[in-house]
Amino acid sequence: MIRSRTTRAAATALALALFGPALAAGGQQTPTPAAPVTPKLEAYKRETDAAVDRLKDFTQQMVDQVFSFAEPGFQELESAKYLTRILETHGFTIERNYAGIPTAWVATWGSGKPVIAIGSDLDCVPASSQKPGVAYHEPLVEGAPGHGEGHNSGLPLSITAAIAVKEIMARDKISGTLKIWPGIAEEMVGAKAFYVRAGLFKDVDISLYSHVGQNFGTGWGSGTGTGLQGVRYTFTGESAHSASQPWRGRSALDAVELMDIGWNFQREHLRLQQRSHYVITDGGAQPNVVPSTATVWYYLRETDYEHIKELRGIADRIAGGAAQMTGTTVTTRLTGSAWLAHMNKTVAETIYANIEAVGLPTWDEADQTLAKGLQRELKQPEIGLPTTIQPLRGDIPPDQNYGGGSDDIGDISWNVPTATLNYPANIPNLPGHHWANAVAMATPIAHKGTTAGAKVQARTILDFLLRPELIEQAWTYFRDVQTKDRKYQPLIGPDDRPAIDINAELLTRLRPAMRTFYYDPTKYKTYLDQLGVKYPTVRPAPPIPPSNGGQ
Ligand SMILES: [Zn+2]
Repeated sequence: MIRSRTTRAAATALALALFGPALAAGGQQTPTPAAPVTPKLEAYKRETDAAVDRLKDFTQQMVDQVFSFAEPGFQELESAKYLTRILETHGFTIERNYAGIPTAWVATWGSGKPVIAIGSDLDCVPASSQKPGVAYHEPLVEGAPGHGEGHNSGLPLSITAAIAVKEIMARDKISGTLKIWPGIAEEMVGAKAFYVRAGLFKDVDISLYSHVGQNFGTGWGSGTGTGLQGVRYTFTGESAHSASQPWRGRSALDAVELMDIGWNFQREHLRLQQRSHYVITDGGAQPNVVPSTATVWYYLRETDYEHIKELRGIADRIAGGAAQMTGTTVTTRLTGSAWLAHMNKTVAETIYANIEAVGLPTWDEADQTLAKGLQRELKQPEIGLPTTIQPLRGDIPPDQNYGGGSDDIGDISWNVPTATLNYPANIPNLPGHHWANAVAMATPIAHKGTTAGAKVQARTILDFLLRPELIEQAWTYFRDVQTKDRKYQPLIGPDDRPAIDINAELLTRLRPAMRTFYYDPTKYKTYLDQLGVKYPTVRPAPPIPPSNGGQ
């Protein structure tokens, strides 16, 4: 990554003009400690706080609208159309069909350095349709996808923050470019490596990512979790009548089952850090037809590039064995990939200072009742919503990382200084990828948490626009610490393409029923109003059992 000294000098000159020598004194050759936040920058931050507050109904509408679209990976058509229209109205230029993904786009506003990328995910989770504000399972459309992770709130946060900041940038002629991008098909880790390959981040100075959480939080270094490759193994055999001439058939489903058996025996001999799981997406049509094709979809998770590649090699070998045993052939298709993220220390510390300044939203009794009602429903401790902020997370040595989930923000984090803002828009102690994770996501809990998150994001954007020494520091960490001994190599090959067809059939089938639940903000102030949900709706607490009263 080549960094431009001249543009950095220009940014410093601008800071000098705006803030005087104290701020602009940041070293150009070696990073110096960050200058304190000047009164002027502090005033700007208070101004964006107020602007985000003024935008809270606009933010709520976006959160509710995207929730109601409930589109799974690569099918975020309505969500993309809706959000890009809003961004265009606010003066952003949209590049559509980004990286060959029909639902992907990049929205750009402003000019010159620094270039700040602001991203968050957009897709939802299969089979997690749920009526918001109701603390027990009640799908809107049975079997349909739903926002059972909460990705409906991230881009509303990013867009609100960017609008608040750009008003100041335009008025006071502050140099800088804002680039907003959507995390398409994050549940498949399906897009971000392709964004990197398409060059989205090649002139970006700082990347700010946000992800829904149950509290405010951020961290730096290598965290817990995994990277992964998603791979579909498709076996092809020969069909035959399963009863009259079964000897003429070669079953692709047999191959899938043998591959899964092989993998499950292999697990004993894999590192403790690995996580792997599969679903059979094609197991044949009906029992009296020997399945001529069958497909099993694996997520192969490990903690670094070499181990992910090694795991993939083992899975390919077992698939080959299953094909040999059954006289079938096998092909593979990559559906997504992710590096384990490494977050930037300077970016995380900058975010954290703004988290401390903004503080958690004020939860009211209705919010706490919904949270505790859902926790009770799931037999979890009834801790309600958080009232204190988590500490800043630091680096976790690889030998203490025992795996977990993956996010393709990892690929971006290895290309440009990046950190994730987790914001408090969901309820603690939920299982994840589940209808319960959708319950809060179009209620005041999500609305307040997204507004609070947008304030933090706006403040952080201002820091990187106006304190150029922070950008220098972030790149020094990136170059001298993070990428000193490890360089990014994509887990996608030159011939791999985004798996844009996945979920298309599912959504074509379910979209008509889902469409009747799209939110109409011209008629209803909130989505809860439209659905007629009383907030909060919880099962009554169980009565306290009567005591035996002794003998
Ligand atoms: Zn997510």
